[in-house]
Amino acid sequence: MAADTSSRSWLSRLRHIGKRPEERRGRVQDTPRRLQRRHVPENSQEVVDRQAGINELGEYEHSIFSDATTLVGERPRDHTEMLHGLAHHDSFDSIVDVARGQAGEHDDVQRVAHQRSEKHERMIASLPSSIWQIIASYLDYASAASLAISSKTLLEKVTSEPLQHLHQPLNRPQLIRFLNLLDADLPWHLLCFPCAKYHFRNNPGREKLHTDFVNHPVFTCPKVYSSTLPRIRLTHNRELPYAFIQLAIRYTLHSPLHGIPPETLCRRWTDSGWQHQTRYMVHEGHLLVRIRSQIFAPPNLTETGERHLLYERQNYTPFFSVCAHWRDGELMRLCKCALSHVPPPPQSYLRQLRAAPSVNRSLAHPGMLARQCDDCRPARRCPECPSEYLIEVNLVEDRNDARMRFKHALVVTRWCDLGDGKSPSASPEFCAIKGEKADYDSFSNVGRRAVAGVFESKMSGAIPGQRMISLNPKNVKSGEQGHGWY
Ligand SMILES: [Zn+2]
Ligand SMILES: [Zn+2]
Ligand SMILES: [Zn+2]
Repeated sequence: MAADTSSRSWLSRLRHIGKRPEERRGRVQDTPRRLQRRHVPENSQEVVDRQAGINELGEYEHSIFSDATTLVGERPRDHTEMLHGLAHHDSFDSIVDVARGQAGEHDDVQRVAHQRSEKHERMIASLPSSIWQIIASYLDYASAASLAISSKTLLEKVTSEPLQHLHQPLNRPQLIRFLNLLDADLPWHLLCFPCAKYHFRNNPGREKLHTDFVNHPVFTCPKVYSSTLPRIRLTHNRELPYAFIQLAIRYTLHSPLHGIPPETLCRRWTDSGWQHQTRYMVHEGHLLVRIRSQIFAPPNLTETGERHLLYERQNYTPFFSVCAHWRDGELMRLCKCALSHVPPPPQSYLRQLRAAPSVNRSLAHPGMLARQCDDCRPARRCPECPSEYLIEVNLVEDRNDARMRFKHALVVTRWCDLGDGKSPSASPEFCAIKGEKADYDSFSNVGRRAVAGVFESKMSGAIPGQRMISLNPKNVKSGEQGHGWY
């Protein structure tokens, strides 16, 4: 019986091979498929209304290139509209033009500005020069100079007086502000702050951050021997020139022609037993950096041992990355506190019995995880600059040690906002980090989220779990004279 059923089913399947699905289901119709949709019974008005504009899949058909299909009602099919819909909608520019347009994105703006200037030129000219000069007198020198250079007519009306004011030494911050306004229009140049001029970039787009950056200049500056290149200390023996902050921000803000990607600044290196790693990103026009430094930390260090581990012996500054206010806060005390939590190595029962006639199980089997106290576990934020620190004791693999593969390491992570790249002497964040700006209130500028939160949410998708408190809760400012830092 079962064999009979299966043979019948096989025979029936063989008969249907090569037929359309409608024919298989026994609903064979002579009408072509495209005409089936339009076939509507004449006596059924209700069916006509419901099926209007619905294809065989049960979907409404909407035209892509026009808004002909509206809720008002069905419009007659417009063949001209269909032909226009098939037309080429992109530009017929060459690949070079398209690439240039994508890179610059200023072409359209410039074209529109050009058309507007012709249209409004007469309106500008119709106002007398005295009124334009009164308007310029209400502006600062940088804005007045920008107004003067925006067109020939305006230069005649406003005169070159604001430009002359900018050349006075007292107005240098205004001059830098005025030059920064031209930044987007000069992709092949970079603003040099000691000269207050735009220099041509030596290697546009191929600039590399070298350790010896003095011998690999971004541009050729005539003041190279008589001025100090603006820079910031990253760690011991490593600095970041200000030109690379500018390049990374220009790349993100303007176009790839204007700079280099922030990711190309990331580095990893070893120095005096410390392993350092930097990572950069641009957020809302500011360059953010994360510097992670780690060193294997032996347990039970003496006070001198801790100092040798943390400080270099030339200037007595920490090996890892710190802001200018590291002596004031509790940073170094917290590092030493974290070092005290490194668990001691296991002591065998035999070794314990040699020392004293008693054994302790916890000494023979100590936990491998370092438990930090409530003091050194939270992340800390410097109250005077946008720097945040996290001190951890982690278990890290040491590939060079075959006997003891996993060791404890002190890991100090610093997140920092390096500013907007507008000026090394006026950018509030950059000056605060260097300790040149005293009135920066870090906690009022932090906003909705700390630098660490912004950075980690973008890089790894998760923000650090530790709460954040002030690095200097008592606001004690004793500087180098204080005794706590060493
Ligand atoms: Zn220069
Ligand atoms: Zn602690
Ligand atoms: Zn600071």
